[in-house]
Amino acid sequence: MGGPVALAIGDQDDGPWILGAEGTLALLHVWIGPPDAAQKHAGLAIDLATEVGDLTVEFWARWGLAVLSGMRGDIPSMAEGVKAAGELADKLRSPVLRLWTAEMSIEMAYAAGDWDRGIALGEQSIELARDLNQRTLLPRLASLGYDDVVLNTAITRENYKHVNDVAELALDWGVNVSFSAYSPRRTGDRSYMITEPDELAELRGQFDRLLARKDDDRQGRIVNSRTTLEETYQYFVRGGRSGCTAGLRFLVVTADGYLQPCSMQFDKRLDQRELVREFTASNECDECYVAIRSYLDKGFWQLLAENVGDHFSFRLRRDGARAGSA
Ligand code: SF4
Repeated sequence: MGGPVALAIGDQDDGPWILGAEGTLALLHVWIGPPDAAQKHAGLAIDLATEVGDLTVEFWARWGLAVLSGMRGDIPSMAEGVKAAGELADKLRSPVLRLWTAEMSIEMAYAAGDWDRGIALGEQSIELARDLNQRTLLPRLASLGYDDVVLNTAITRENYKHVNDVAELALDWGVNVSFSAYSPRRTGDRSYMITEPDELAELRGQFDRLLARKDDDRQGRIVNSRTTLEETYQYFVRGGRSGCTAGLRFLVVTADGYLQPCSMQFDKRLDQRELVREFTASNECDECYVAIRSYLDKGFWQLLAENVGDHFSFRLRRDGARAGSA
């Protein structure tokens, strides 16, 4: 090792430690901010890694920068980062790092509204993960006993025939699972809605089997309530769900301190009363039925009964799992 970076980091024995520390700090600041610190540490990690030829640290630094660009909505820069990370994963011949890059490519397709590409990449990644036997990761996390792994599947025209396969896999892995409905509001594309009579009949059959499975699921691993599952089915039958009171019964606080009705409506206000007056009172959007939307139609006592019951089943499960793993 030589050159200006080697001089800067001093003792050669400290080199790998400093390199690792810069890489770790870069990733840490990607998640907790500030972005400037993430960029500074990632830049240093890349310089040091290039100097000593450590492709792994360089991979993670570039991957972290791509995540940061994605979080800031800078898709061109994210694409550059994903490309650089992908090339490093190829150089390292690491299928696992290719999976991490693929995950980011899926996020990028999602951010760009390129659903067909996102789904195709997702399917390829699942095959790759299966080949690598990655299915062992979730059961190992579940066996720690914290009961904090929940898989979520957004049901679309592409996957509705596999609702019970997903539930079975989650139960097999010992993790929780929830289901949401596809939201055309997010993509502007209604072609993934389930609309045809034969599709709805198949979906009804899937839900009937899922509800029967939920009755037998004493550990409560299928976390949607029965009423939410029924209404999710009805959302597809009706092609939407009217009567949304987003802005009044829940709202989103944006990173820059504004209030907006939900994550798919960008009517930003500084005052909730104004938000309710200007948005909620005349809201006709019916284009989602995700978890938080499902709560809006339920009264206090129903929410209390469903959530308190779940809380105690979660606790019993967690305590049981911990006792079992002790
Ligand atoms: S239905 Fe309500 S929560 Fe869903 S996207 Fe429309 S406004 Fe937002």
